[in-house]
Amino acid sequence: MSTESLRIVWIYPDLLSTYGDRGNMLILAHRAQRRGLPVEMYEVRSDQPVPSSADIYLIGGGEDGPQALAAQRLLGDGGLHRAVAQGSVVFAVCAGYQLLGSSFYAKGARCAGLDLLDLSSDRGPSRAVGELAGPIDPRLGLPPLSGFENHGGRTHLGSGVFPLARVSTGVGNDGASEGAWHGKLLGTYSHGPALARNPALADLLLRWAVGARELPPLDDSWSDRLRSERAAAVAAAARQ
Ligand code: GLN
Repeated sequence: MSTESLRIVWIYPDLLSTYGDRGNMLILAHRAQRRGLPVEMYEVRSDQPVPSSADIYLIGGGEDGPQALAAQRLLGDGGLHRAVAQGSVVFAVCAGYQLLGSSFYAKGARCAGLDLLDLSSDRGPSRAVGELAGPIDPRLGLPPLSGFENHGGRTHLGSGVFPLARVSTGVGNDGASEGAWHGKLLGTYSHGPALARNPALADLLLRWAVGARELPPLDDSWSDRLRSERAAAVAAAARQ
């Protein structure tokens, strides 16, 4: 693996960081460093320009107001669009995921999204809160998604994206599919931070960023324990 630093940008922690989203950056950095890859982490606030030359961009979850503001600022800034055009990886969670699409709803109003993924979001009949799990698209070669969701929106996928997972527990996009991916862009409703519960997903993003087919394995026994504890809790709740 190259010794050039992996540059990770966390977009707008001042607006989109409701659910421990910093953890996703820390997990990526930790897993890269354990493989001997130096990492530079940048937190770009919403009053700062988004650099377009980083390897991985992270966008977190947030309430409706900050989500709408983030979309406006990212559209005005253009840095993320330039980065995507150059092949950067984007990992987006919940509000961040919704704003990658063409439009979403915030505080009852339809807002323009960044149009980076072929999807749009509207409002659901109720808030989706709880465990979110299901088998991931086999093309990605990952174990099942294990997560937690909390959102009012529902997301409709166009033909230009693939669902990230099928839903076996929870709601995700619409009760049937969860998240979306295309190229090196991937969005999910899973909070958590999602990558602490899904280390193989973290490694997929790292592999996309460095262009590696495989990475040396790490000891993931703590994440495995958490994943099986949560799966057992869901199964126990279903039996009641
Ligand atoms: N505001 C969005 C919704 O409720 C996203 C929420 C979130 O990021 N948790 O659908």
